[in-house]
Amino acid sequence: MDPLKHQKTEVDDLFHESRRFEPSEIFKSHANYKDIKIYQDANHDRLKFWEDCARRLEWFVPWTKTLQWDRPFAQWFVGGRINASYNCLDRHIKANMGNKVAFYWEGENGDTQILTYQDVYEQVNKMASVIKGLGIKKGDRVAIYLPMIPEAVVAMLACSRIGAAHTVIFGGFSADALRDRINDAQAKLLITADGGYRRGNIVPLKTIADAAVEQTPSIKDVIVVQRTKQEVPIKSGRDHWWHDLAKTAKTYCEPEPMESEDLLFILYTSGTTGKPKGIVHTTGGYLTGVTATTYSVFDLKPNDIFWCTADVGWVTGHSYVVYGPMANGATQVIYEGAPDFPERNRFWKIIEKYKVSILYTAPTAIRAFMKWGEEYPKGCDLSSLRLLGSVGEPINPEAWMWYYEYIGQKRCPIVDTWWQTETGCIMITSLPGMTTMKPGSATKPLPGIDAEILNEEGEVIKEGGGFLSITSPWPSMLRGIWGDPERYKQTYWSKWQGKNYFAGDGTKRDKDGYFWFLGRVDDIMLVAGHNISTAEVESALIDHPMVAESAVVGVTDDIKGQAIVAFVILKEKNKSSKEAEEILKEHVALKIGSLAKPKQIIFTADVPKTRSGKIMRRLLRDIAEGRALGDITTLADPAVTAALKQKYDEV
Ligand code: ATP
Ligand code: MG
Repeated sequence: MDPLKHQKTEVDDLFHESRRFEPSEIFKSHANYKDIKIYQDANHDRLKFWEDCARRLEWFVPWTKTLQWDRPFAQWFVGGRINASYNCLDRHIKANMGNKVAFYWEGENGDTQILTYQDVYEQVNKMASVIKGLGIKKGDRVAIYLPMIPEAVVAMLACSRIGAAHTVIFGGFSADALRDRINDAQAKLLITADGGYRRGNIVPLKTIADAAVEQTPSIKDVIVVQRTKQEVPIKSGRDHWWHDLAKTAKTYCEPEPMESEDLLFILYTSGTTGKPKGIVHTTGGYLTGVTATTYSVFDLKPNDIFWCTADVGWVTGHSYVVYGPMANGATQVIYEGAPDFPERNRFWKIIEKYKVSILYTAPTAIRAFMKWGEEYPKGCDLSSLRLLGSVGEPINPEAWMWYYEYIGQKRCPIVDTWWQTETGCIMITSLPGMTTMKPGSATKPLPGIDAEILNEEGEVIKEGGGFLSITSPWPSMLRGIWGDPERYKQTYWSKWQGKNYFAGDGTKRDKDGYFWFLGRVDDIMLVAGHNISTAEVESALIDHPMVAESAVVGVTDDIKGQAIVAFVILKEKNKSSKEAEEILKEHVALKIGSLAKPKQIIFTADVPKTRSGKIMRRLLRDIAEGRALGDITTLADPAVTAALKQKYDEV
């Protein structure tokens, strides 16, 4: 039996396969892509499609071969030479766009900065000169551990300017996590800050970094950006204040003409399912993928104000704060802090203030906004918005509707974008000016992307559930796991004997060819011989007006093999009770069928999440089965999980 075979039950009504939304006529008529021909053309000649995308960039030397595919190792635009920082900066300056705003930056404490492309260009050139002066060469790795301040973007582009690979470590990670990533990448230089602001507190980045660097022999120098101005220890010879170095830095640094396949960065995955993997991305193909999709998926126009709320520590920040939008010359907002500081309307205030037209955020944030209530967005002017995006997890249909109604005010299409650190760019989502939306579905693969749902044997499932696979190489695909080619083959290419890429996500396709994400393959539950998807049960729970968020897991059960345990976060106005538990169990039974009825519901204020905000069901399984917790290095708030474990053990 195919373990993922989708049970066709009333769940299809829950997911409203037939519920559809169209972009408005105004949106359609102005959209960058409105003709189905783009799919047909890409289908007809995929390589030509990607060549056209690559030509949107400036190459120092044109490529001689578009794709060299030695399964599972791809090379794109072979022989071409290109520089990422040049394409994000110099090209716009030459086109007289130096005065265009690149970033409206807002600090959590209310500080602001406005940086034009010229400003960013100057800073990047200085930082590139400085790090080159510290002996960093092409191919060396530089670790970046910064808050969401403009210098984070500057540091990344300074590395790519000189051909050094960056590895950005999210500013919320601990000393151990930072140390492990630096050691894995063998970085020579660390760029950090004295501290950063989070919910009104200072995160002591330099102190954490000092602890990490004690055990990272490869680090020779540390550049420290001043943000919070608190006292921090400076070790002479090793540590250098950025503002001191900048004073005497050369103002121009020649961009390195990189081979298309030269390393651009290493980035560790979120660690939702296990030990993080150092994903390797190279220059030409990656830049092609992110530049093309920023333009197509976000329907980007020269006067848009684009706000992707992701931190640069995640792939979303790499692809849709730094490289994609900047290669397109976009004007963006970046915000340093938390969405509820000082008030729960901070995001909406920022949108009102900067007249943000495109908002790209995560389901975890949307569910938090739902929990807090719609009075917060209602009090702000959101009329500048014209397009919304979602990334990171499946967006539950209820959350989609809330986002559509209260944030987009039924005016803005939503792009639900499925992709991974490994894919580099968005893979499955709508083109907002031409795709009919179905809430909860990421819709269809983008032009140029071949994605299928396969069964255990690797056969294509046209309608029904199975494993998501990408069946042709794409330019921004990962080139490997840093230092571990075996793990690369094992993780992504062993399922179907090296033939197709295994994404690790359970997915189904409906009769219209729409893709619906069901949950991680590792998390799928097997109850009395039937596969039940985490996303479906969670969405059934969230469908109930009392519920803000939920996470479900399958635990060993003598009779059924596995039984469902649901962790439920109620909206703030609701109270947990035995009665509420029964109501919710019945609600799931009604929506999906009695098979999916949870055996137990645990009310909780929070569930374990990665630092990028994704639910870690594997830890919930550990809790529910009374085991010690597995790898928690990527866990956002260990206290939440410890409290939950204690509560569960008592029950
Ligand atoms: P690890 O690989 O270490 O477990 P991770 O998979 O969470 O971590 P990321 O690369 O940040 O690391 O996340 C990619 C995953 O996020 C996808 O494989 C998928 O499970 C989920 N995801 C992202 N966007 C969507 C979306 N729009 N719909 C459904 N799932 C999504
Ligand atoms: Mg993953």
